[in-house]
Amino acid sequence: MHKDPDCIFCKIIEGTIPSYKIFEDDNLVSFMDINPFEKGHVLVVPKHHAATIGELPEEVLVQLAKAVQKIAVRLKERLGCSGLNVLQNNGASAGQTVPHVHVHLIPRYEGKPLRFQSGEYGSDEEMKTFYEKLR
Ligand code: 5GP
Ligand code: ZN
Repeated sequence: MHKDPDCIFCKIIEGTIPSYKIFEDDNLVSFMDINPFEKGHVLVVPKHHAATIGELPEEVLVQLAKAVQKIAVRLKERLGCSGLNVLQNNGASAGQTVPHVHVHLIPRYEGKPLRFQSGEYGSDEEMKTFYEKLR
């Protein structure tokens, strides 16, 4: 499996950078976003290092899609969100800041405005609360 020793998500996958992991199998990991757009924002990340979606082996893409669905269902069941955005950025011009493919799952709640930027939900305590609900 391809790895990049300088990649922040490869380091999270290896465990050399800590994260609140809510799911892990041989091929993928999912953890709380450190700077959430909304309460319960998670990332789903293939263990195979590739910068953008076009570079992912097809079998990894299929594994990723299945994991996204599974975790989307978990978010709805455990957080009671009424909606969910699935977001995947490719390239700096698209807002990608970490060049290791990842899918954002952003829970949505009634009456809360739709926005795609970090806000006030990033305290460690709050991340831990959602980690406990979702792991
Ligand atoms: P992008 O803008 O590349 O689509 O999203 C990268 C996401 O990774 C951002 O939402 C950012 O908050 C998150 N992120 C960046 N560094 C870390 C980290 O070290 N730990 C965690 N948990 N999330 C990170
Ligand atoms: Zn990587």
